[in-house]
Amino acid sequence: MKESGREQRQAYRIYILDAGAVLLGARLQALDGALYMPKLVAEEVRSPLGRTVLEALIASRRLTIFEPSPQFLERARQAYLEVGGRGISDADLQLIATAIELSTRGKVIVLTDDYAVQNILGFLGIEHRPVSQRGITRVFKWVKICPACGSRYDDLRLSRCPKCGTELIAVPRRLRKREDSKGSETRRS
Ligand SMILES: [Zn+2]
Repeated sequence: MKESGREQRQAYRIYILDAGAVLLGARLQALDGALYMPKLVAEEVRSPLGRTVLEALIASRRLTIFEPSPQFLERARQAYLEVGGRGISDADLQLIATAIELSTRGKVIVLTDDYAVQNILGFLGIEHRPVSQRGITRVFKWVKICPACGSRYDDLRLSRCPKCGTELIAVPRRLRKREDSKGSETRRS
């Protein structure tokens, strides 16, 4: 992902996340636009880490779970039929339909590694970027903290604080202390 100029602010950016995008973890928080994920895609996120990232994004209102309208699902299906290729899932169709629908509201960028989806998005002229880059999941670590007593837990499956019973929240913890805004995205070999 390249650095997006601050001066291009007139275009409201909307990032639409495929399931694999949760691997970006805390870096999603830093994206310069709204985050959306289709409902069926969200249901595909099952790993504990993925769920933790999702729940944190939803709890902080950073991410909106979206259900595209039938008319846009139909347009996604049409695009799929025109492009051809292997079968795609209902979640993929929702992803594409969401991209089409939200394109009416701003500049859409879909974060996906799915080749078939990328192909159809390209056909539709919708921007997409890959998620996987080496080392990306290692830069941040997620922990759960208790907002009441401040205890910190590495076990992401905990939902309530064992000490005081308060509901825990997931927060990213940066492992390497390096974040300047010059667009150097943890460029290490
Ligand atoms: Zn506590």
